[in-house]
Amino acid sequence: MNFLEKRILQDGVVKPGNVLKVDSFLNHQMDIKLMEEIGKEFYRRFADKNINKVMTIEASGIGIACFVAKEFGVPMVFAKKSKSVNISGDLYVAEVESFTHKNTNQVIVSKSFLSTDDHLLIIDDFLANGCALKGLISIAKDAGATIEGLGIVIEKGYQNGGKMIRDMGYHLESLAIVDSMDDETGAIVFRQQ
Ligand code: 5GP
Repeated sequence: MNFLEKRILQDGVVKPGNVLKVDSFLNHQMDIKLMEEIGKEFYRRFADKNINKVMTIEASGIGIACFVAKEFGVPMVFAKKSKSVNISGDLYVAEVESFTHKNTNQVIVSKSFLSTDDHLLIIDDFLANGCALKGLISIAKDAGATIEGLGIVIEKGYQNGGKMIRDMGYHLESLAIVDSMDDETGAIVFRQQ
């Protein structure tokens, strides 16, 4: 069991509606030592890739992506959520359905911060159905950037996002993959990696 799986078992809470709450160390209060470890682990896994920018989506991806970007010594750009955008020529835009809020947001990145020169590592906290990653991939493609890899802190392996992204041919690394969880007993089972 790795450092993150141990922490999830210790402090994660399984909620009804297929939601794993990790608010005490990742999504609300953040354990900065753990963030450093996460940054170093993603660096270790993608060190052979030619990454010049880390990309994520607000809000919970931002803190994690900062620590990853620090390890690579590169900038981090995040997609901003916006209820409605007047599609202007200055923005890349994608539609993202929120797993936790059950609504759809447009997410935007300024054309000033993504281009054909960029080799991206895309980071997010959770992977469920893959909507957030699909939106980020679509923005990266619109910009003509190269996606070197995608890094997820917690993948819910029994939802279809991970399979979809891997089937698209991307290099996806998840630090913990939950194969099942039970809100009545609180049990969480991880995939052996
Ligand atoms: P997806 O777009 O892959 O369906 O869902 C990923 C997004 O939904 C993540 O950015 C994350 O914020 C949120 N999310 C999905 N499942 C969970 C969960 O079990 N717990 C928490 N805290 N967030 C989740």
